[in-house]
Amino acid sequence: MTERIPCIREGCTNTILPATAAKTGGYCMPCKQEMEREERQRYIEANRRDVNLYAGITDPVEVLKIMHEPQVRDPLIRYVSYGQSKEQVYLSLSAEQQDEMKDYAMQRIRTGDEDTGRDILLYLVCYHDVSLTVEIPELLEQEIYYPAILYKSASAEVRNHLLQQVNTDDENRNHILLTLAHIGDDVVEQQFRQWRQSPPSWASELVVAPEHYTTEAGWELTKDGQRRELFTTPSYSLYKVKESETTNVAITGDSISMLTSSTNCCPWCGSALTTLINLDVKHPALQDVSWHTPRLQIQTCVICSSYGVVYMEMDAAGEPLWSSHNVMPVGADDIDPEDDVKLTPDVGRQFRIANAPRHVFHASEWAMEPSLSQVGGHPGWVQDAEYPTCPHCSTRMKAVAQLDWGEVEEYGEGMYYMFICEPCQMTAVSYQQS
Ligand SMILES: [Zn+2]
Ligand SMILES: [Zn+2]
Ligand SMILES: [Zn+2]
Repeated sequence: MTERIPCIREGCTNTILPATAAKTGGYCMPCKQEMEREERQRYIEANRRDVNLYAGITDPVEVLKIMHEPQVRDPLIRYVSYGQSKEQVYLSLSAEQQDEMKDYAMQRIRTGDEDTGRDILLYLVCYHDVSLTVEIPELLEQEIYYPAILYKSASAEVRNHLLQQVNTDDENRNHILLTLAHIGDDVVEQQFRQWRQSPPSWASELVVAPEHYTTEAGWELTKDGQRRELFTTPSYSLYKVKESETTNVAITGDSISMLTSSTNCCPWCGSALTTLINLDVKHPALQDVSWHTPRLQIQTCVICSSYGVVYMEMDAAGEPLWSSHNVMPVGADDIDPEDDVKLTPDVGRQFRIANAPRHVFHASEWAMEPSLSQVGGHPGWVQDAEYPTCPHCSTRMKAVAQLDWGEVEEYGEGMYYMFICEPCQMTAVSYQQS
């Protein structure tokens, strides 16, 4: 039997056959591979270069085209990021530039790159509410049915076509119902009303009743068949400033405060309740909200509302009170108090409310990574649309704000959704995460 010899690398206790040693210069295979990896890493670090794809480019349309181009992954290249986010560049587009991007998107779709084309159209619709009336017939031809919001501006002709197709197209029915919900004009409303009265034969194949689809587009049919919006408008972004700027409270004054800790405790887990937002009802973001007290305060248990909806009622002075209607959600009974959310004391002071409103569907496509936190506007559902029912009057509550928890805590994730029932002066908070 051949005698094994020790690997010559310092600290290694492996032994190898003399034949291996002859091939590797005395090292065992794991050491040999490790040394090759290290060598490669040294080479990459010594030879990596910065590549700025945006050098000399000032036209935002050209910048966006580059941003939408998949980057070749090469360890020897470090791509210099553009000074602004995709969202910021999209927001800077003039009407003419929006058209240019729209044409470019259609060109991509025609040449087989549906994904990029679709993404661009989605940004244009959410951030600028561009009309795709002319383009939609071509999207249909290409069998692009989603995201359904692209169909918001469909012509009457397309709408009629979809109203026919939904009866026969088993494969795309789900998407078509969503496109109809987004079109949401009088004729569509009438159709959903009719489906509710006498469900079509295909309704049994759906997970939810056809009229439930309207909630994905932010509206519902009331009991007496009227269209009712499920989110408040206008929409104002809630954005974060750098910690160093937080002393400058003059910018916001007293109109909003966020993420303050209450002296009241959660009856379920015992931790302090948090006021997610506290906004002056005279703020333009609440111009169409009917609230009886000077400030809209939305308070919750941040821990427990991630398990289920937490409702609050208002006392005569508008101070939030834990609602007797709250039902402890499954899982909330064995919360470890150690999991308590510990907010940086000043985090709320880093948030500002925008000076001007933005389009109401701006944050509605969560996956596009827009700035999500807002007061007013269509919610950015991480999962399916889920408006809580007011426990007092049994109607769906209206979405009034949302807070991206990734902006609040360093390792935070998911989204808190805030709702109100104006007649009952109740608030609710729910949570979704991917
Ligand atoms: Zn070794
Ligand atoms: Zn709790
Ligand atoms: Zn109510």
